[in-house]
Amino acid sequence: MTDPTTARHLMVDSQLRARGVTDPRVLDAMLRVPRHEFVPGSLRAEAYDDHPLPIGDDQTISQPYVVAVMLELLQLIPTDIVLEIGTGSGYVTALLAELAAQVFSIERHRALASNARTVLAAMGYANVHVFTGDGTLGLPAHAPFDAVLVSAAALNVPPTLLSQLREGGCMVIPVGSLESQQLQFIRMMNGQPVISLRDSVRFVPLISDRD
Ligand code: SAH
Repeated sequence: MTDPTTARHLMVDSQLRARGVTDPRVLDAMLRVPRHEFVPGSLRAEAYDDHPLPIGDDQTISQPYVVAVMLELLQLIPTDIVLEIGTGSGYVTALLAELAAQVFSIERHRALASNARTVLAAMGYANVHVFTGDGTLGLPAHAPFDAVLVSAAALNVPPTLLSQLREGGCMVIPVGSLESQQLQFIRMMNGQPVISLRDSVRFVPLISDRD
């Protein structure tokens, strides 16, 4: 089995750089964060492969390339306060923690949230806060956010999340049905969301308790 550091370099070169990801902060973060620590033990050998992997509770850790595209779109700076919906394994949470000042993350599955908290704490991330609950409600007490990253597919962009984005802030969110989704990049300008459509993607559904 290839050692994790070598596998991570290969992932960054062959899956990210080769497909046009250029942001040095994103590439560096993805070189640093040990993705294999976020997948179930039995799947460690596949942790750096070019596809999503199951993480339990019928959920998945996203494909590395899709994660890189989403992070590159957000153009985070070290002072940013970020909201993440769909903590899952905590892998993207760790990357956000490398790129921003504070990360507030919400996961609806208690067991996944608890596991992510444990892994992130063991890695020493002191700037992440993982909440259990319905992420479509956001976290009004900590808003407004500089950036919002949603890791599950919504039928429509939740208005509550838009309302928690600061003026000039941005959001990436997969929008569409189970079969067909498109990544949307949204910037809040003059109080209005300005939307641009990006890559076609496939995420697990965003499940709101209000549905
Ligand atoms: N970024 C994660 C991806 C996890 S998959 C990773 O790399 O591991 C998406 C996650 O969104 C799942 O864990 C799912 O339980 C969660 N999810 C779905 N709907 C949600 C909601 N309304 N609020 C919070 N989490 C939600």
